[in-house]
Amino acid sequence: MGLQIHFVIDPQGWCCMGMIIFVWLYNTLFIPQIILFPHYEEGHTSAAAILCYYLVSLFCIVSLLRASIADPGKLPERPKIPLTEREFWELCNKCNMMRPKRSHHCSRCGHCVRRMDHHCPWINNCVGEDNHWLFLQLCFYTQLLSSYTLILDFCHYYYFLPLKKVNWDLFVFRHELALLRISTFMGIIMLGGISGLFYTQLMGIFTDTTSIEKMSNCCEEISRPRKPWQQTFSEVFGTRWKILWFIPFRQRQPLRIPYHFANHV
Ligand SMILES: [Zn+2]
Ligand SMILES: [Zn+2]
Repeated sequence: MGLQIHFVIDPQGWCCMGMIIFVWLYNTLFIPQIILFPHYEEGHTSAAAILCYYLVSLFCIVSLLRASIADPGKLPERPKIPLTEREFWELCNKCNMMRPKRSHHCSRCGHCVRRMDHHCPWINNCVGEDNHWLFLQLCFYTQLLSSYTLILDFCHYYYFLPLKKVNWDLFVFRHELALLRISTFMGIIMLGGISGLFYTQLMGIFTDTTSIEKMSNCCEEISRPRKPWQQTFSEVFGTRWKILWFIPFRQRQPLRIPYHFANHV
């Protein structure tokens, strides 16, 4: 099916996403300039540290952009419902269309999404069956990048030796203290905010329950057999290869093809 771009028109979502991209851009530009490159030149740190920083940063922005433009699992206009699966479908009373159970109507996007978890303004998209794995990767790499940034901010003051050869007339070095304080502030906010969300998401996958189902307290009513955690995670990520759960540069193939029209991200 190739790459399908799904674009939500919502100015509020654009602002939220713009803020996230600004935080990413700020840290990806300034942290190497103020900390990594000068300390590398003076022999206080290694090239591997710089490479790791850029890799985590790259994984972070790729998962953000892909989660944002991926189709979360929008239902087609006229779905073909196999006779054997009729009992697993229901009518949406908002858009008047048939949808598989566990789908939800997103009032922000104006359509139903398969196995919808929630609508996230920070990626300006729904989090559903087809992009949930990218959202989890985004949370993971954001935590990693924030932690790495905070460690570097800390080391720059308390662990690395003072810099001698840098050109202090350059803007970044004249404003070093202010720039690093802003970076530390952003790191603490991002790490604090995302850690709670990531933990809730992981617990949701362990129990095979979406955030919407949890909020509507309908979990007791759903009589689903309890699956092992490897199975629920494999279904979300679309592969049983655990190493691939961490890679945002791939196509997701649904493990069980649902209802003959599963989209591939
Ligand atoms: Zn609907
Ligand atoms: Zn939505």
